[in-house]
Amino acid sequence: MVFKTWGVVFKTSSKYDLVICDIDGCMSPESHALINVAGITAVAEHNQQAVAQKDRPIVTLCSGRPIGFVECMCRLIQNSLVPCIGENGVWLWNPSDNVFECDSAITDEHFEMVSEARKLIRDRYGALGVVQQPGKSASVALYHPDTEYLRSILPELGEEFQRRGWPIRVSMTWFYINCDLEHISKGTAIDRLLAQTGISQERIAGIGDTMGDRYIADRVAWFGCPANAKDEIKQRANYVSGRDEVEGVMDILARLTNEQAEELQP
Ligand SMILES: [Mg+2]
Repeated sequence: MVFKTWGVVFKTSSKYDLVICDIDGCMSPESHALINVAGITAVAEHNQQAVAQKDRPIVTLCSGRPIGFVECMCRLIQNSLVPCIGENGVWLWNPSDNVFECDSAITDEHFEMVSEARKLIRDRYGALGVVQQPGKSASVALYHPDTEYLRSILPELGEEFQRRGWPIRVSMTWFYINCDLEHISKGTAIDRLLAQTGISQERIAGIGDTMGDRYIADRVAWFGCPANAKDEIKQRANYVSGRDEVEGVMDILARLTNEQAEELQP
């Protein structure tokens, strides 16, 4: 198997070189609420400093959103160096050379299976208002304005996939059902990212707000949550901010800097 080497080595004078941050519920709202532009600008200024001075970790993104959305957010936060992750691990996008990389463990059979799953969901739930999020290639995300209704179909969906022998994992975020290939996750994508960039696990921190982010928590040396995070994932955190979403992210980044300052004191 041929592994592409990005040739990116980002080394800082900080305790951590990289922060891997979820998007929905962290960098921006999972709902259709407006994005906090001032907050995004603050993260962008943090990253500009990180790139210019290499004195703090650079922030990259790890999300279930379609990779085009993640690419856009990555550019907005001024991460010009370290790949970001989209579609719950299907894709990496590298801002340093504009290369998209789909996980090579996804075969033609997997793509066909996902396509069949799409048709099944369309036939069974399309007329009931269940919409498939556009822009995904090897997974399916489902939305319905009535989140309780959406939640109610999750068990039968999982059972149907199982009955057909499709290795598809079904999970719920705040407003979406995610149907992802079992062997692909945020975790497998972080493994790819680390292998390609040479950044070691003990120099990485993570931020997340739902149990889908346990894959981030499993692979970082330090994990933080914004105040709006689910209780279950807060139990995995080294620090829970008192602030929500991107303001929580900025608080967590400040906390990481302060921790280092305290450790450096004699
Ligand atoms: Mg989230």
